[in-house]
Amino acid sequence: MRPIKAVLRRSALGHNIGVVRRHAPHSRIWAVVKADAYGHGLTRMLPVLAAPSPAGPDGLALLELDAAIRLRESGVTKPILMLEGFFTADEIELYSRHRFTSVIHSLQQIAMLEASTIAAPIDVHLKLNTGMNRLGLVTRDAIPALARLRACGKAGVITLMTHFADADGPGGVAEQHARLNDVLAQAGKRSGMSAQLPLSLANSAAILRYPETHADWVRPGIMLYGCTPFADEPEFSAAHFGLEPVMTLKSEIIAVQDLAPGDRVGYGGTYTARKAMRIGIIACGYADGYPRHAPGTNQHGTPVLVGGRRTRTVGRVSMDMIYADLTPVPDAGVGTPVTLWGEGLSADEVADAAGTVSYELLCALTPRVAVEVLE
Ligand SMILES: *Cc1c(COP(=O)(O)O)cnc(C)c1O
Repeated sequence: MRPIKAVLRRSALGHNIGVVRRHAPHSRIWAVVKADAYGHGLTRMLPVLAAPSPAGPDGLALLELDAAIRLRESGVTKPILMLEGFFTADEIELYSRHRFTSVIHSLQQIAMLEASTIAAPIDVHLKLNTGMNRLGLVTRDAIPALARLRACGKAGVITLMTHFADADGPGGVAEQHARLNDVLAQAGKRSGMSAQLPLSLANSAAILRYPETHADWVRPGIMLYGCTPFADEPEFSAAHFGLEPVMTLKSEIIAVQDLAPGDRVGYGGTYTARKAMRIGIIACGYADGYPRHAPGTNQHGTPVLVGGRRTRTVGRVSMDMIYADLTPVPDAGVGTPVTLWGEGLSADEVADAAGTVSYELLCALTPRVAVEVLE
């Protein structure tokens, strides 16, 4: 077996749920588990995800219908929120049967629900576009949409929802939050329409930075997996918030090369040795999910731990291998353990070096990487 493996620590997920609870003590938690729990494997994380609240989350949010049905088949009884809702009218029956809560983000979905013949109403998160311009009804459609949902008798509990575009950046949430509050004020004028309208607004960044957005349901994703949403702000690292990485991607050095000054490394020879040096060849490449754009030039490397010590990559990432400068680890050789990201080296730092976000690294892990699950 190639020595690469992803080690997943379930207790870290449990710990990070606790961090969410400490930040938003009065909110219920939708654990966002789309994309197979951000690449960790929904089934592998299930013992923590299905644990009763408060140790486990209050509900699970995703958008893949097959995965949601499998959750019900494996005995999950907590609420399940479908983040993009139903795509076609025939899915509504499944939502009703499996008690899925549907995001409703368009007038087309409302028309489909009105026309459906479901026996039991489905709970709904009515999604408003308050400025992100991705999914959601424009705010002027909100009140008529609410009225239609109430009137059709096919919506159970109706929660209002929005999503922030820049909770992790300089734009913040104020403008979007104000637009949402306008809708609530209008609903309040219509014979107490806003009464009994729970709210769900906050992703990880808003949970950590904007307590005024916590409301009834928070929707943490990336922080559950132990990464920070504030990739551009080193002072707001995952460690700063006490988040623990769930995934550690590990491998080993499988070969060593001694370079003379002027020797070049890898495809395209993008790194040139300036002095005599040793490099370690690591069994991990882009076919394992390591980002091909992680730099390894003379100017910029990507951090990597070899034998527990920090060094940097040199050369271009190939399909199955990368190279590490062994100068800071002179005793390293074939078999020395390597951490690509996780415990001791946050995926946030590796992502930052590679010009992406930790979300992408975690989701990109490929099926050929062996997985070991620890409690
Ligand atoms: C993915 C997603 C989240 C979670 O976002 P994080 O930044 O990972 O916390 C929350 N809400 C919606 C609608 C999402 O699509």
